[in-house]
Amino acid sequence: MACERCGTQRAPWTGWSVHHRRPAGMGGDRRPETVTAANGLLLCGSGITGCHGWVESNRTESYDLGLLLRRHQVPTAEPVLLRRGLVLLDVDGNYIPTEGQAA
Ligand SMILES: [Zn+2]
Repeated sequence: MACERCGTQRAPWTGWSVHHRRPAGMGGDRRPETVTAANGLLLCGSGITGCHGWVESNRTESYDLGLLLRRHQVPTAEPVLLRRGLVLLDVDGNYIPTEGQAA
């Protein structure tokens, strides 16, 4: 397994967390896309360490990179800058290269 932001390799289930690009928020977000793969990123660290911690403590930059989404944004429509480049994510967790990017 590798972190989708920095590429750090670790054994499964140690030091990982799933980051929600569009947070479920207080009381949860019942829109179905919240729980699809397009809204989730596997990042190293926790909410305070590693890449997951970086996202939480650099929120302005994370919005620019698509790592965080605002509540009106749809995860499948917003590109995100990952280690592999700028991609769109579909609901099944596939990476779709954006225009101008090598596949
Ligand atoms: Zn990382």
